[in-house]
This record gives sequence, structure tokens and C-alpha cells, in this order.
Amino acid sequence: MTRVTLEGLVKRYGKVAALDGASFEVRPGELAYVLGPAGAGKSTLARVVAGLEPIDDGEIFFNERVVHKLPPAERRVGLVFQEDALWPRLTVAENVSFSLKVQGIAREQQRARTAEALSLLRIDSLAGHRPDQLSPLQRQRVALARALVTDPELLILDEPFARLEPRARDELRDEIVRLHGESETTTLVLTRDPREALAVAGRLGVLDLGRVVQSGAPHEVYNRPADAFVARLLGPANLVQGQLEGTDARGEVVVRTPLGRLVGQAVSGPLAAGAPVTVAIRPEALGFGPVAPGANRFNATVERLMFLGETREVHLRGPGDWPVVALALQCQSQALREGQSVTLSVAPEFVVVLQGKYAVAK
Ligand code: ADP
Repeated sequence: MTRVTLEGLVKRYGKVAALDGASFEVRPGELAYVLGPAGAGKSTLARVVAGLEPIDDGEIFFNERVVHKLPPAERRVGLVFQEDALWPRLTVAENVSFSLKVQGIAREQQRARTAEALSLLRIDSLAGHRPDQLSPLQRQRVALARALVTDPELLILDEPFARLEPRARDELRDEIVRLHGESETTTLVLTRDPREALAVAGRLGVLDLGRVVQSGAPHEVYNRPADAFVARLLGPANLVQGQLEGTDARGEVVVRTPLGRLVGQAVSGPLAAGAPVTVAIRPEALGFGPVAPGANRFNATVERLMFLGETREVHLRGPGDWPVVALALQCQSQALREGQSVTLSVAPEFVVVLQGKYAVAK
């Protein structure tokens, strides 16, 4: 199994640095995700690691092997793009076996390995079909079989779900988890979809403007975002500006905010008293029920309720008319009414105190 180490990758297109010092590691056999908005540099990352384009600076290692100067064929990377790029005139089996043929592998072996890849992706029955006879999901399965048939050291999937319907997306996601479990190939998925990344990733890197700004276990990145950009990219967050008052006896920080004094956790430290900070609170961390000892609390008025099926999004006005969004399970929020005054509470561990001011739209 291969460990992939990306160190300080730089790729410029004229004046644009699509990658601007990106570092990330995919551990042996890991299913890692890099999440980033459009334009963050995801496709560029896929292309330079696969060797389709040279880097301007930085280093790429597969285990101890330096690969950034090698041609693509010697890197042994399997690549699946958002658009499957299947050869339209070839059958499914021919598409999958093509790279084996180019490598000069004996016919018998080509046949056996192609059959194995088709069976792994459960598309044996489509072997004789042409791409235009297939559904988008089936086409992505073929693209995956084609990438895996060469037994790559690294499998890179560049937004493989982007063109699929939600149900097909879920199916392909489960398929990737299953495949990864069976093949244990070191895998890097690039995506814009935080839900998918949080659900599936063994480890998650967040890419912004060509740099990996945070990496860690999905729950760490979600609960302890390094900054407001990461907090917002991973899901909705209430961002409130404040000023640090100090550290309390238990090592938690106390922040003065428009919502009142809040006790929270600083993710980067040490912060000096008086420092400008941004507080991030996830909507689901706000509670309507009885206030637990030690929890922060403030009063708010329910302004609007949005029914989302299993949950309800609750838009409120807190102290100083500050807008607050909470998320409650539907079955636990039946009694809420618009115009009602409520007490909201949030445990200190879910009040994330970030360094610096962030432009917050009030
Ligand atoms: P993502 O895949 O995250 O959407 P890309 O890697 O496609 O991001 O692009 C990152 C940045 O690099 C963008 O600003 C994009 O316009 C620019 N870029 C990407 N490829 C090229 C190219 N071939 N020529 C010029 N600029 C490019």
C-alpha cells in the first residue's frame, strides 16, 4: 500500500496560482478527501499528481519514491473525472482493457483482468454495450473499472458525483466505500460536497485558493474549524464577532459578543485578552430545552420556522436583534410558534472561538 505525500505544491497558469503551496498526505490504504469550493484548485491537484501537468514547485512522493518528475505511466495513478471520458466507439470491455493493451500485457491476462474489474464493479452484463447505451451511474462504474484494472498505487476521483442525480450519487458513494474496503487502494477523492466528504472520508483536507488550510478527521474539521471559511464550507454556522475577555478556571475562553458573554473553546491559541475574535456555533448545537449546568444561554424570539422534513430550521432574533439560526428535530419542536420568546442554550464545547474578525452579514 502506498503513502502519498504532497509537499508545497505550486502550479501557476500565468498570474494565477491554481496551487499555491498545497501540502497533504494520504496514508497507505486510506480513503482521503480534499474538499474545496469551485476554483480552489482540486482538478489542478488531480492533474499534477497524476502527472498530466508538471508542477512549478514542491514535491510528490509515493512512499519514499520521488514521482513528480516521472511521466504519468510510471506513476501508476488511476484517475476518474467528473465527466467519465469513455471512448464512445469502444465497448465497455474494450474501454476497460484499453490501458492493459497499451501496456503490452498478454491477451489472456488482459481478458482475465478486465473480467475481474467488470465483476468488481458489478457491470459484467454490460461488457458488450457502448457508452451511449449506459446511464450516467453505469458510465461512472465503467470509468472506475478502467481506473482500477491497472492496479494503481493511487486512485484519484475528481468530483465523480458532480453530474449524477442525488440517488445515483448515494449509490456511487456506497460503491466507492465498498470498493475501497475490498481493494484497499490508497484513494483521494476531490469534491465540493461537504456532506459526502464528512460521511465517507477517513481524513479530510480543506482546499482554499490552492492551499490545504486544514486537515484532520471529518469530525475534528467540522467541530474545530481553523477559521470561518472552513466553518462555513462544512455546513451552516452562526458567526458572531466578539472580543476575548479572558480564560476561565477550566481553560475555556470567555468572549463578549452581541449575544452576551459566551464561554467557548479557542481552536488556535494563545489569544490575548481584548483580541478580536469570531465565534462559530452550529445551528444543531443550539438547544431549546432545559438548560444544562454550565451551558451558555440567551433569549431570542422565533421569527420564522422552515419545515425540512426530519428537522426544522428555526430563524430567530437574539439580543441586539442579532440573527440566529437553530436546527431542531421536527418531533422535538412541534410546540414552537413564530413570535414566541425562547431561551436558547449551547454547551461551551460547541462555541468555537476563532482568531480575528470575519465579515459577518447581520
Ligand atoms: P477546482 O477544480 O477546485 O474548481 P481548478 O483546479 O479547476 O479548481 O482551478 C483552480 C484555478 O486555476 C482557477 O482559478 C482556474 O481558473 C485556474 N485554472 C485551472 N486550469 C487552468 C488552465 N489550464 N489555464 C488557466 N487557468 C487555469
